Amino acid sequence: MSDTCIFCKIARGEIPCRKVYEDDELLAFHDINPVAPVHFMMVPKFHLPSLMEAEEAHAALLGRMLLLAPKLAKELGLENGFRTVINTGKGGGQEVFHLHIHIIGGGNIPPMVKRS
Ligand code: AMP
Ligand code: ZN
Repeated sequence: MSDTCIFCKIARGEIPCRKVYEDDELLAFHDINPVAPVHFMMVPKFHLPSLMEAEEAHAALLGRMLLLAPKLAKELGLENGFRTVINTGKGGGQEVFHLHIHIIGGGNIPPMVKRS
């Protein structure tokens, strides 16, 4: 846990969130600044800065997160699919340094990479 990390504070209940799902290891909540009609994120409850710090010991948890994503997406009405995004490190545009998977869908989801 980190004293200053905003997602650790949310996981501890010190900052409110619009909760989607919670269990012993994971928390999912709506993004405060959504980019699509449905935009939530899933985080481990312990502090892990990014995918770059993930280790073998985290493999099962990371697998659980990926398997949970479609279940939660479906519950929120994303029957036709969704986008998952994991920004990693400054080079990946990450702004909150607590590992999180964005789950985004509904409306028009444009191609991720535009080719000319
Ligand atoms: P990233 O750029 O991948 O690090 O994404 C950080 C995300 O956290 C952004 O989409 C923000 O809108 C979101 N965010 C920041 N603070 C909060 C908060 N208190 N509750 C929910 N989402 C947040
Ligand atoms: Zn944290």
